[in-house]
Amino acid sequence: MEELQVYNDGRWRGAEATTSSSLAHSLHYGTGVFEGIRSYQTPQGPRIFRLDAHLERLRKGAGLLGFEPDTDELARACREALERNRLGDAYLRPIVFAGSGPLTLDLGAQTVSTVVAALPWSSHLGDRATREGIRLTVSPLRRNSAASIPPLKLTGAYVNSVLAKREAGRRGFDEALFVDGEGFVCEATGENVFAVFGDEVVAVDHPDALPGITREAILDLAARGTSRPVSLSELLTADEIFVTGTSAEVTPVTAIDDRAFPLGVVTRCLQASYGRLVRRSS
Ligand code: PMP
Repeated sequence: MEELQVYNDGRWRGAEATTSSSLAHSLHYGTGVFEGIRSYQTPQGPRIFRLDAHLERLRKGAGLLGFEPDTDELARACREALERNRLGDAYLRPIVFAGSGPLTLDLGAQTVSTVVAALPWSSHLGDRATREGIRLTVSPLRRNSAASIPPLKLTGAYVNSVLAKREAGRRGFDEALFVDGEGFVCEATGENVFAVFGDEVVAVDHPDALPGITREAILDLAARGTSRPVSLSELLTADEIFVTGTSAEVTPVTAIDDRAFPLGVVTRCLQASYGRLVRRSS
């Protein structure tokens, strides 16, 4: 297989040929911001779903770190990465991060690097997840509080997700569910949570959860969609539960710990409508 061509600060290089200092600030402190974006093959060619919204979220995260990425450059690199690697169904990963410079906790004097990669598509939850659903467990870990780290795609913040997912995996579950100290549901490690009560589709709202782009799309698609806080005890009474994300798309949840949930018709319908939406040419 040919090596993937990756955009790196104005140049295209083999993915393994990009260089980053072993003293890169982001390596030591997680001072970077990234996005996960999907491209879908359509009869008119690859279509990137909601690229502007993803780059806007990246810009916000970058602003917290004092970076000023050129979103036009990132958008061009996303399209070119698909072309150069001849990909249609793909996962795009732009990242902007602090590179060489002082290893103090002050940001500003380091170089700022940009990488954009397009990877052949494969679901991070596995292909069976969309068809058969996943099993969640309530995490003993708390989600990063928005009061400590705003819920944006800052690289360092993802250690929280990695630890929760590892812990859930060790106990045989597919994913971890973050619940806060008051018993309110926050999100999964890389997905937002939805509950279906009758024909009402509820997008779980929580200040510490990432404002998901898929979540917005599903709220628009649902005939009776609302966004509101949901406690864990209420969630456990739902008729159906599913999670959403750029990579997870609409993934049914078939269990939370020892409570089983059916893979229902509302989830299946939204999966199908989302599948049509992402492939529709705009
Ligand atoms: N929450 C977290 C923590 C995530 O990493 C993601 C994936 N980006 C989501 C939710 C879903 O967001 P989106 O639909 O924008 O991909």
